[in-house]
Amino acid sequence: MARKKSSSDLNQQIEHRTRELGEQIWGHLERREPTMFEKRWWDDRILSWAMADESVKVQMFRFVDVLPMLSSHESIVRHLQEYFEDVRKHLPWAARIGLELSQPNSVLGRALALNARSNARRMASRFIAGSSVEEVHYTVDRLRSENFAFTLDLLGEAVISEVEAEAYLQSYLDLIAGLAPRVKKWSENVQLDWDSQGHLPRTNVSIKLSALCSQFKPTDPVGTMAAVQPRLRTLLRHAMKYDAYLHVDMEQNSYKPLTLEIFKQTLMEKEFRDFDNVGIVIQAYQPAAEQDLKDLLKWVKKRKTPIWIRLVKGAYWDYETIVSGYRNWPIPVFQEKWESDANYEKLTIVLLENHQWLRPAFGSHNLRSLAHAIAAAHELDVPPSAYEIQMLYGMGKEQAQVFAELGHRVRIYTPFGELIPGMAYLVRRLLENTSNDSFLRQSFTEHVNLETLMMNPSEHAKSATKQKPAEETDGFRNEPLTDFSLEESRTKMLAALEEVEDQFGKEYPLLINGRAIDTKATITSRNPSHMTESLGTVSSASADDAIDAIDAARRAFPSWSRTEPQYRAEYLELIAANMRRRRFELAAWIVYECGKPWEEADGDVVEAIDFCMYYANQMRHLAHPQHCDVPGEENVYFYRARGTVAVIAPWNFPLAILTGMTVASLVTGNTVVMKPAEQSSIVAAKLMDLIHESGVPDGVVNFLPGIGEEVGPELVGSPDVEMITFTGSRDVGLAINESASDTDTRQKMVKRVIAEMGGKNAIIVDDDADLDEAVLGVIHSAFNYAGQKCSACSRVIVLESIHDTFVSRLVEATKSLKIGPAEDPGTVVGPVIDEEAKQRILEYIEIGKEEATLALACDTSDLADEGYYIGPHIFTDVDSTCQIAQEEIFGPVLSVIKAEDFDEAITIANDTPYALTAGVFSRSPAHLNKARMEIVAGNIYLNRNITGAMVERHPFGGFKMSGIGSKTGGPDYLLQFLVPVNVTENTMRRGFAPDAAAEDDEEE
Ligand SMILES: Cc1cc2nc3c(=O)[nH]c(=O)nc-3n(C[C@H](O)[C@H](O)[C@H](O)COP(=O)(O)OP(=O)(O)OC[C@H]3O[C@@H](n4cnc5c(N)ncnc54)[C@H](O)[C@@H]3O)c2cc1C
Repeated sequence: MARKKSSSDLNQQIEHRTRELGEQIWGHLERREPTMFEKRWWDDRILSWAMADESVKVQMFRFVDVLPMLSSHESIVRHLQEYFEDVRKHLPWAARIGLELSQPNSVLGRALALNARSNARRMASRFIAGSSVEEVHYTVDRLRSENFAFTLDLLGEAVISEVEAEAYLQSYLDLIAGLAPRVKKWSENVQLDWDSQGHLPRTNVSIKLSALCSQFKPTDPVGTMAAVQPRLRTLLRHAMKYDAYLHVDMEQNSYKPLTLEIFKQTLMEKEFRDFDNVGIVIQAYQPAAEQDLKDLLKWVKKRKTPIWIRLVKGAYWDYETIVSGYRNWPIPVFQEKWESDANYEKLTIVLLENHQWLRPAFGSHNLRSLAHAIAAAHELDVPPSAYEIQMLYGMGKEQAQVFAELGHRVRIYTPFGELIPGMAYLVRRLLENTSNDSFLRQSFTEHVNLETLMMNPSEHAKSATKQKPAEETDGFRNEPLTDFSLEESRTKMLAALEEVEDQFGKEYPLLINGRAIDTKATITSRNPSHMTESLGTVSSASADDAIDAIDAARRAFPSWSRTEPQYRAEYLELIAANMRRRRFELAAWIVYECGKPWEEADGDVVEAIDFCMYYANQMRHLAHPQHCDVPGEENVYFYRARGTVAVIAPWNFPLAILTGMTVASLVTGNTVVMKPAEQSSIVAAKLMDLIHESGVPDGVVNFLPGIGEEVGPELVGSPDVEMITFTGSRDVGLAINESASDTDTRQKMVKRVIAEMGGKNAIIVDDDADLDEAVLGVIHSAFNYAGQKCSACSRVIVLESIHDTFVSRLVEATKSLKIGPAEDPGTVVGPVIDEEAKQRILEYIEIGKEEATLALACDTSDLADEGYYIGPHIFTDVDSTCQIAQEEIFGPVLSVIKAEDFDEAITIANDTPYALTAGVFSRSPAHLNKARMEIVAGNIYLNRNITGAMVERHPFGGFKMSGIGSKTGGPDYLLQFLVPVNVTENTMRRGFAPDAAAEDDEEE
């Protein structure tokens, strides 16, 4: 127990001892630098060469990442040349000459490829201890002989199918069963085999829980837990049987709450409650770590059996920082290195003070952090055997030896596995070793002096200057998606689903000129997940109602178009604010009415908010007239609204698309008749509500739900409609375009049509692609929301050499997707929208069976009576010209097409009437460039999924038969709704003209 000392005395003593220890250990270390005759010296040279130049480092790590996928010398040399092309002048001369002289299939090229491969292998072998069972055995024997304990980690945690998850579990079981009898024969080593509480298992493994199921989904803790727990239990039983220890690693932040929860719940079960050979990781780079640790302490006291805590800083710093920046989420990790170091020391004390419950394992290569832990333990009277030091294989080995010699138990975290699945691990280690902030780099490469290295992190605090957050540039910022890994978000969503359920059965009238109108005819809105469930009835407009709505819009136009753009923009911001306030309710309606799973429904609301905010911002820019004056002449160029816009929207983005088209019309000063799709009329009624609530004057937006065939012709044909903005199928889009061009004599303006139509979008998978990412990217693009997005992937074009591997992984991973009702948070593939859609998709599946090979048909027979379900279907051996490869299906049907080489893949990708989205998974810079230039599509996505366009970042829309080339959420979109006008004034009177520049100054 802690002695009674004042905390400042204690701190001073710890600090004093930390420095003493640091100096002592440093003294040992200085004598052990590697020499030129050791392999490591060469690795260090290569790494320090990379560190000398950030651009070389990036290219080098990217090259290392792709290397295991390259099977021929030619391909290695080609990639080397492509990767280092742009940074050629930064390379040492020998490397430059090698690259310049070598032709891919020359003798020199072959030598260069061999050299690259052997260097990368050697580098990998420094951090990854091998791949075969023999190598595992050899390594653990060697570690033992060097007086180190071990914990084994099997690489390949990125499981994407249940088959892979099952195989991964089995490897762990085999590993434990194989090791246990072997290590039992070792002679006793008290330093490694005993701690203050008794005997320690020699077999020790570390595992990532996400690898125990293919659908580790923080949005669905219950479903994920149900998948992970049985496998975790099997592992625990195995560990108990073979006297092995099991440690749960910590991964990215979004997995943390669920990982902790699964760990706690399982180990609280009667069967495992007394098992003490378990532990988990706490990451000190998280401000939340202290609370997590306190929660664990409370829990473990209740459990009454201690656990181990491996305290680390954390391996995902770059990832967390980048991803949260990308998503506009709060960054969950400290941004200053000293803050992580200081937190590490703080948590060290918490652990030591509670070491009987939370047995400390200090995982670090930082001499200061470790010296502090040892010093603190000493001052708190915690014996060395009560804690241990852990380090990664291949990192800080000299330190590890010194600590072992000083009598500490040092455990080496030792990863095993093949190079391809091990790449993520290797790149993480390379990054860590070369990061500017890394202790290892600073101490061994940068030769920072000991005084600085051993400085108390809080002293850095005094000299640190906080980086200011990046300034907003143009006032627009994407609305963050909901983080469903947070319990609070899930609770809100569940509550909204319940509340909305209570509102089923209501009636929704038309709204014309601010007046609610009930019609005799109605549309019953149904839940596609549960087809017998009626959500409510919506009035169905007649042609006469359409005339009234157009008339109301026409009459509202003069005053609305003259309303200051600034005010119009404010209305949009108000609508957005109301959407934010009601975001869960709106998402819940989308779940029920359109069968969208949670994240997709949330994305729909977020995009709607973004449209409001972005177009408001854009309009403020457009509202400034542009001047082009010369002495004696003033020229001003500005925009005017067009008139009445008929907005005809689809059901698949029931809120986002309808909002986008409506608010773009509004903010530009046009008035609107809003005609939603029949299937999503209630969500549309909610939007009308929001617009009305925001105080938009009567008549400016009129709500006209109804059957397309009845009101459509009136809206498109009316002489009083100046513009039609449509999103939907190609057939309807072309028909609107045609009928709008048929000019009525009463018409005062040529009609403008914006038509956003379908797609037959392809993803190319190159032979050097990261297949984990490619499979997940294709699945996400093809099957999320049951493929019912115009941006969805319906063709995947795969290079011949990887075709079979890719297809087998794709099929297994697709089988593992959960199909079910949209309100279930575990669902990935929900229902299709209605019976008609279902029948149409089934017809295509029949055609596919004639044209190609059906490689997968996910069964949904158990849901057949519930809703409109069609499981994912994958066809292989598809000829690129056949019907399923040419026509838009709008459902979860994917065609796999084989291509001989990358050029042929591009030709196939371009060979449809559409040009909406396209994607490429490749790690060849030259191929990616080719794709940029040659793929014909409005939105091209490289190395990611092809759906989920974000406002401003990815202006969305296609051309050819996919649309007219307008881009929603982009800088040119609002111009479609405006007519430009130029006014020229002759300001010269009798040879005299005012000074234009002076006037401008005055205005400012
Ligand atoms: C045995 C062992 C097991 C591990 N298991 C896990 C695990 O399960 N999960 C996990 O996430 N990590 C784990 N790690 C930690 C991780 O892999 C790194 O090795 C560790 O974070 C490096 O810290 P350090 O103390 O050795 O080095 P240092 O050089 O002192 O610290 C580097 C660390 O500081 C943090 N950092 C870097 N820059 C900044 C900055 N600008 N602001 C704030 N913080 C910054 C990062 O966490 C970085 O890794 C483990 C480490 C060991 C030794």
